[in-house]
Amino acid sequence: MKRSTFIAGGLGLLLGYNPFSVLFASSDGRRDIYLTIDDGPNKNTDDILNKLKGNGNVSFFFLGENLDTKKGFEKAYRAVSEGHSVGNHSYSHPYFSRIELNEGREEIERTHELIERIHDKAGIQNPRLFRFPYGDTGSDNREGLKKILIDMGYSSYNCNDERYGIRDVACGWTLDSKDWKHYMTKGEYAIQEVLGNVSKSKEHDVILSHSYPIMSSYIIPSIIKRGNLRLISLVENK
Ligand SMILES: [Zn+2]
Repeated sequence: MKRSTFIAGGLGLLLGYNPFSVLFASSDGRRDIYLTIDDGPNKNTDDILNKLKGNGNVSFFFLGENLDTKKGFEKAYRAVSEGHSVGNHSYSHPYFSRIELNEGREEIERTHELIERIHDKAGIQNPRLFRFPYGDTGSDNREGLKKILIDMGYSSYNCNDERYGIRDVACGWTLDSKDWKHYMTKGEYAIQEVLGNVSKSKEHDVILSHSYPIMSSYIIPSIIKRGNLRLISLVENK
């Protein structure tokens, strides 16, 4: 291995992208990817669901405070009913390293109860997926939080790819779309940058994105139009 290749590989791993991973492809040449959409439900959720209809499934990580209204609950119920997976992203999106363990437990449990009710209403089993806000796994409380999640039946499903060495009980990601850099932006540069990041995805990459207008209006329609990526939820292929 050339030194320069090694350095590039190391840098890639640090950035959460593994340039050495084998590029698998499905039999029809399309790559299966897990698009994950955080921080909803919000005003973009229905638009995202409309665009996805008949075009694949994604995984939402919803916030309890957004689910705790009739509107939010209905949007999440629609997502579950239409075959998408819905996971827990805490109640109020805190940095888990900055709150007490019992506050962390409450963040997880309050949201869990809402998500459980949504699945009960839909007659679908709750897959019990959890993603930490900001990827902050709780620092000193990490082991305590992990135990809480395990005791509540949470698992990583397909969230964490062994190729990236990040197998754990919560859901991480293997590719960052960096849509958060373009919150509320709709400029051509923003669209091209986010699409460029998504198009680097390999088979079974877990892509981090958010419930932003850029996703509903541009990125998801472009992925569907290009047709080389198949959108599947984290619960599929288990
Ligand atoms: Zn978030």
